[in-house]
Amino acid sequence: MPVRPTAEIRFEYTVPVLVIGGGACGLCAALAANEAGAEALVLERDQRPTGSTSLSQGLIPAAGSRFQRAKGVDDTPELMAADIQKKARNGADPAVVRALCDASGPTIDWLADAHGLDLHLVDNFLYPGMSRHRMHGTPNQDGAELQSGLLAAAARRGIDVLTHARVQDLFADETGRVTGAAFTRPDGAVETVGAGAVVLACNGFGGNAGMLRRYVPEIAEAEYWGHAGNTGDAVAWGEALGADTSDMGAYQGHGSVAPGFGLPLTWAVVTGGGIQVNLAGERFANEMRGYSEHAVEVLKQPGRVAWSIYDTRCEQPALSFEEYRQLVALGGVKRGETVAGLAAITGLPEAALTRTLQQAAAWTQGDGADPLGRDFKQTPPLAPPYLAVRTGPALFHTQGGLVIDAEAHVLRPDGTRLPNLLAAGGAARGVSGPSSWGYLAGNGLLTAVVGGRIAGTSAARLI
Ligand SMILES: Cc1cc2nc3c(=O)[nH]c(=O)nc-3n(C[C@H](O)[C@H](O)[C@H](O)COP(=O)(O)OP(=O)(O)OC[C@H]3O[C@@H](n4cnc5c(N)ncnc54)[C@H](O)[C@@H]3O)c2cc1C
Repeated sequence: MPVRPTAEIRFEYTVPVLVIGGGACGLCAALAANEAGAEALVLERDQRPTGSTSLSQGLIPAAGSRFQRAKGVDDTPELMAADIQKKARNGADPAVVRALCDASGPTIDWLADAHGLDLHLVDNFLYPGMSRHRMHGTPNQDGAELQSGLLAAAARRGIDVLTHARVQDLFADETGRVTGAAFTRPDGAVETVGAGAVVLACNGFGGNAGMLRRYVPEIAEAEYWGHAGNTGDAVAWGEALGADTSDMGAYQGHGSVAPGFGLPLTWAVVTGGGIQVNLAGERFANEMRGYSEHAVEVLKQPGRVAWSIYDTRCEQPALSFEEYRQLVALGGVKRGETVAGLAAITGLPEAALTRTLQQAAAWTQGDGADPLGRDFKQTPPLAPPYLAVRTGPALFHTQGGLVIDAEAHVLRPDGTRLPNLLAAGGAARGVSGPSSWGYLAGNGLLTAVVGGRIAGTSAARLI
């Protein structure tokens, strides 16, 4: 992914704003640039732009949206920023966090009112660490729906999304100003385009095994569930241009994906009182720290397997997710009318499973405390019939990347801006601190959707 001198090239044509990557980040950046009066071209390597965005549940956190107000949810950007920093142990850039939180509510309203996305507030469960109901989702709480809505919005605005266009090289002058890009077509032909400003929206390095081993070795062996085309190109170009990188060890893991079904089991079943046990029928970590850091805990268990166990009450919020309904339809959710029945259908040892469930039930009543540190008093005990899903660990996306400021400008190590390079979403340093424990649910699409909008607006200002 080299950066080549401008002198080598005469561009075939030039656009004001060039966006690299056609996921949520790139599409929001292009919409914002277009709205600010700058024509934007999106280059996307795939035949159809899907990205990790389509693989996600599409839940976007935001404070102060009209959807929250309609439901009487009392939330503010300050509270949202405090939740993010608490989870990240104050390891995120406060200016970037604040800019994202301030812009989050207005961005949800913008997507719904200016761009016709069908969004609602998810108010039937809270993720660990989130103090208010602030997740916003599409009707089926599905990232593919979000991506389709954004593509339709881009089409309505006449924004060109050029697919089958894998950007290989950037061109830059001696000041670090990016002048354009060269991209490869499926037949091997190389085309070039000049640009006034460039937005890197090509996500992180989850699809690059070498970078995973180097930066996030603890999760490198888990299955990568994000988009395979996200191979760390933004980091490679940024470094070649003299940009700073940070938090390269941060990532969004997930401690409960259903292997064999290709579907995640939403953590909503855990936040209502569900637990995870290993093949010995024993709990092994505090599930309420968060699903991201739980991935490594599952990875350490025999066979890299955990059973997620919950009941029909805990299942209620999960039923709003299209992917959960698919998991049920495909037979991924097992049911036991009794603990013995659950043990028989899962193959878990009955005595140990009984003991684990009895202990957890006692802790919900304040009878003793969980040595792993979970506060069980927040939820009622699990009640039969029991439900169970065989789950494994996954890496969803990386969170480290190019250091940016509050307006999404890419920075050098001395804190100065590169002249015309913006980054957001998985391409930029996220807001999750340096490791897996800092990921608060929604940080991914917050930086992609809201950060993308900020980046597009900033890019247009440079034109
Ligand atoms: C299973 C799963 C569930 C998730 N659930 C949630 C959730 O509910 N909420 C949340 O906040 N986050 C969630 N995430 C994370 C979220 O999906 C990502 O943070 C977000 O989609 C990133 O958006 P993006 O636009 O930066 O990247 P992407 O959507 O991945 O888009 C990047 C695009 O860039 C393209 N590209 C890459 N390199 C090049 C190149 N050289 N040239 C041209 N194109 C290129 C890729 O093909 C891709 O289409 C989830 C992730 C996964 C995997």
